[in-house]
Amino acid sequence: MISYFPIQYHEPVFRPPSEAKSLIIQLTYGCSWNKCAFCEMYSDQQFKVRQEEEVFADIDAFVPYANQIRRVFLADGDPMILSTKRLLRVLAHLNNTFPFLQRVSAYASPNNLIRKTTSELKELYDAGLKLLFVGVESGDDDVLLRINKGETFDSIIAGLDKSKEAGMASSVMIINGLGGKQYSRSHAISSARLLNITQPKYLSTLVLSAYKGWPHLKARMKADFYPLNSLELMQEMQLFIENLALENTIFRSDHVSNFLVLKGVLGRDRDKFISTIDRIIAKA
Ligand code: SF4
Repeated sequence: MISYFPIQYHEPVFRPPSEAKSLIIQLTYGCSWNKCAFCEMYSDQQFKVRQEEEVFADIDAFVPYANQIRRVFLADGDPMILSTKRLLRVLAHLNNTFPFLQRVSAYASPNNLIRKTTSELKELYDAGLKLLFVGVESGDDDVLLRINKGETFDSIIAGLDKSKEAGMASSVMIINGLGGKQYSRSHAISSARLLNITQPKYLSTLVLSAYKGWPHLKARMKADFYPLNSLELMQEMQLFIENLALENTIFRSDHVSNFLVLKGVLGRDRDKFISTIDRIIAKA
């Protein structure tokens, strides 16, 4: 049990829900891209790569608790922008410090994965980086352009395929409602198609939220944007799940933004999810 916290984070710090018990180590502050229209995570934050000595000092601060650390999450939004050599030095330091370390994970953008060779990714995997959280958001090129994601259907597949080839598992996020009324259908179908091709280990969905209000969000989109109402969000979710052909992907829609919590394994639970959504739509 850690009775006081030995390091001071540079706020805000974000992590996926499943990393709640992980030690978070910040390698960067913010996100090097920081341009996605819907994202306010680091909008007030200047991207910065931390000095290696500072990162090592944070890791060393947990030496008294070394035997308790099993998982580490590398923050902030974009650590895979760092050189492979630098990441390997951090991973080596983590492995040397925490004898029972089982897994290191991080957020990753497909473009940053593409920039590394498969053998570099393999080296990172062998050094402990086992899981990547990838905010795919949508498989539809029009939606990706509109939200200024800096990725395409093809770049996302290339990045996910490359990390998979290196042995890394991916946890992929899709945002329900991201295409608004205009692109709802193509967003659902193309996102499902992208996932069918890449077969990620984990999939989660969030619902598009306007943390600074809809006028602010609409102004950041590249064209008129008409948000979905709750029935339309359900219908989009239904179309998305109907089009999925996943073999063995753990699915969660339990983020605080979701109206409907679904948990299971796709494809096994696909028909069950569809029936649940059918019943909700019928009552609406
Ligand atoms: S890449 Fe991720 S963290 Fe960066 S702006 Fe886009 S959604 Fe936000």
